[in-house]
Amino acid sequence: MNIRIGNGYDIHRLVVGRPLILGGVEIVHELGLLGHSDADVLTHAIMDAILGALSLGDIGHYFPPSDPQWAGADSLVLLTKVHQLIRERGWQINNIDSVIVAERPKLKSYIQTIRDRLSSVLELEPSQVSIKATTNEKLGPVGREEGISAYAVVLIRYHN
Ligand code: MG
Repeated sequence: MNIRIGNGYDIHRLVVGRPLILGGVEIVHELGLLGHSDADVLTHAIMDAILGALSLGDIGHYFPPSDPQWAGADSLVLLTKVHQLIRERGWQINNIDSVIVAERPKLKSYIQTIRDRLSSVLELEPSQVSIKATTNEKLGPVGREEGISAYAVVLIRYHN
C-alpha cells in the first residue's frame, strides 16, 4: 500500500496572559491558549494526524508535558521533528485538511498566512494545506470561549 491517512484532534484552554498562536502565526486576541508548549492547537492536531497515518503513536509520546525540554516549545519545531519521522521512513505528505473551531476572534484574515507558514515548514505548496475555521455556534466549552479546538486529516504517500 502506498498511501495512508491519519486524523488528529486537539483542544486547549483559553486564558488571559498568553499569546494566541495558531499554525505558527500569532493572532491578535485578548486571550491565548494554555499549555506546556506554545499550545498551538492546530499544529498539534496536524502532528497527531501525521503520526496517526503511520501508527506512530501521538505527540504526548514524543513530547511529554512532563519533560521540561518542551516547556514553551515552538510547535513548528515539533512539527518539523514529526515530519522527519515519516520522511526517514520514506513517506511524504500529499495533503492536509484541517478545521479550527473558535468562537472568536475571526480568523479569516489569518488563514492564508497560516497556510503559507505551515506549507513552508513542511516543504509543501500552500495548495496542499487546507485550513478552515468555524465557530461552535456558541455551544459547549468552545462556544463559551473557554477553549479552541482543531481537527486535521493528513494523507501521506510513499515516495518512489
Ligand atoms: Mg496540544
